[in-house]
Amino acid sequence: MIETVASWLQHSTSTVILTGAGMSTESGIPDFRSKAGWWKSVDPRTVATVESLAGNYALFREFYQLRIEALEQAKPHKGHEILASWEQRGLVALVATQNVDGLHQLAGNKDVAELHGNIVTIRCAKCRKPHSKSHFMENAVCTYCMHHLRPNVVLFGEALPQEAWNRTFNTVQSADVVLVIGTSLEVYPVNQLPKMAKGKLVYINLEVGTHTQGFDAMIQGTAGAVLVQLDAFLSR
Ligand code: NAD
Repeated sequence: MIETVASWLQHSTSTVILTGAGMSTESGIPDFRSKAGWWKSVDPRTVATVESLAGNYALFREFYQLRIEALEQAKPHKGHEILASWEQRGLVALVATQNVDGLHQLAGNKDVAELHGNIVTIRCAKCRKPHSKSHFMENAVCTYCMHHLRPNVVLFGEALPQEAWNRTFNTVQSADVVLVIGTSLEVYPVNQLPKMAKGKLVYINLEVGTHTQGFDAMIQGTAGAVLVQLDAFLSR
């Protein structure tokens, strides 16, 4: 299967990479569906919401402060580096990610559609003026309107950034190959994107179970290991 997918990639004139939290677990950042609740036994999906920002800011802030802190130790892994090298070699038209950690850019990818924003940059929750990360980490308020600060992340209940979404949607539709890596495909609307693909559709994930209808190939394994194997064929 690796060889077949590698040959699709070799002959593709437009390849889209769509990544999720599983792309970053090998960099030490947990996904949201790991077996045990990793933070105060609270499901992160109940904190990363507009309701929590408006109604429980202390918990909301603590959650993101911990995530930002954890990110400071995290480095891109071999899989991220391979995707960056594919972009440099002209093998990738677009990396679109649900991840908010900025690891694709840190690995060297220049063209990344951040479908869920990022936690690397901060803005005022009201007037939207940008602020430094250290402001947020020090529990400061907006220096213009004294309102709460927040990361530029898309919370559950918010719309996706229009430009990133439109570009991804269009590029997926016209792609020869779409590689979907490390996502459970449970989060709407990103989970609709694979259905828009007209080219070859490939799913690379630790678990290959539900949500994989319509895929042409499924490769079970870690993102890092599978990308290393694909890269070995592409570099021959
Ligand atoms: P998810 O947690 O729902 O699913 C992750 C999937 O990746 C699972 O199916 C899991 O089996 C698989 N996986 C885990 N480790 C893997 C590995 N090493 N190689 C291959 N597959 C692996 O994540 P999602 O589908 O991206 O949706 C969760 C939401 O949470 C998204 O909105 C995302 O923005 C956010 N999130 C982001 C990060 C991040 O930025 N790193 C981390 C956690 C959650």
